[in-house]
Amino acid sequence: MNWLSNFIRPKIRSLVEAQKEVPDNLWTKCPSCEGMLFQRDLKERMNTCSHCGHHLRWPVTERLEILFDGGKYQNLKLPSVPADPLKFKDRKKYVDRLKDAREETGRDDAMVVGVGQVEGRDIVVAAFDFDFQGGSMGTAVGESIVMAAEEAVKRKFPLLIIPASGGARMQEGAFSLMQMPRTIIAVQMVKEVGLPYLVLLTDPTTGGVSASFAMVGDIHMAEPGAMIGFAGKRVIQETIREALPEGFQTAEYLVEHGMVDMVVPRDQQRAVIARLIGFLTDKSTGGKVKKGKGDTSISARAKAVDTKSRAAGAVASAVVVKMPTRVTPAATRKKAAHA
Ligand SMILES: [Zn+2]
Repeated sequence: MNWLSNFIRPKIRSLVEAQKEVPDNLWTKCPSCEGMLFQRDLKERMNTCSHCGHHLRWPVTERLEILFDGGKYQNLKLPSVPADPLKFKDRKKYVDRLKDAREETGRDDAMVVGVGQVEGRDIVVAAFDFDFQGGSMGTAVGESIVMAAEEAVKRKFPLLIIPASGGARMQEGAFSLMQMPRTIIAVQMVKEVGLPYLVLLTDPTTGGVSASFAMVGDIHMAEPGAMIGFAGKRVIQETIREALPEGFQTAEYLVEHGMVDMVVPRDQQRAVIARLIGFLTDKSTGGKVKKGKGDTSISARAKAVDTKSRAAGAVASAVVVKMPTRVTPAATRKKAAHA
């Protein structure tokens, strides 16, 4: 029983029944303010709450359609990997879980690698699909990140990775843990030829993903309110037996503590990504794409770091967070407490 059938059923029951294609879930509850959100409005607002500005999880297909110019991009085929190397079984066989996830999402694994343009700038994007086994990183995801990095180097395009992941895929045991160093090496290839490697952290970015490639970007962007951390808050609290500060592990908290460069709301992400690429690749603004191995001397590296941090600072200060008045991110709460 949904809202519609509970309240209007006597009058329009026959009408609703006649239109079988009308989806059952027309309304969604905002997990932050509990306001009711109409699905169609939600889609138009890029899955952000119209009451409080909360950024709900966003299906990867919709995200990429909005991110790329005209919604167009080349969707690269993911590399094939041995399925279920450990013949793993919990309550269900891992191969069956994979089969179900593939049927539900129409995808081979928890990753989409797209090549296209953002505001006219070429880019390779590797985005996680959280709906596929919680976006967990197994061999296929690791291999896809390696492929995306190789593609970026081959085409001389910047690389953007958009994690949305619960961490390593436990059904692949040590094989999934091996993806941590592999992905680090992959993104290092991109950096070594002087191409920008950007990360857009989304809710949630945790476990082995946050402990590997997701935290070594040239610039870290994050979505408002995104949960970013290694272990969960409860686990940490129980281990250290201390209360953790408010807003702990949120994107805003990590900006304050230097792990993330900027929080970028969805309606500004395209513009910010394009500007960052501009800063980091246009010779006139100090960026430089190196050919071959590039100058790896300490002073050259220091200069590169300085250029990147200046670019992040310039873009971060230009990002104006527009939120409705009811929003309560960490900064607003703090202000309220001091008033
Ligand atoms: Zn809300």
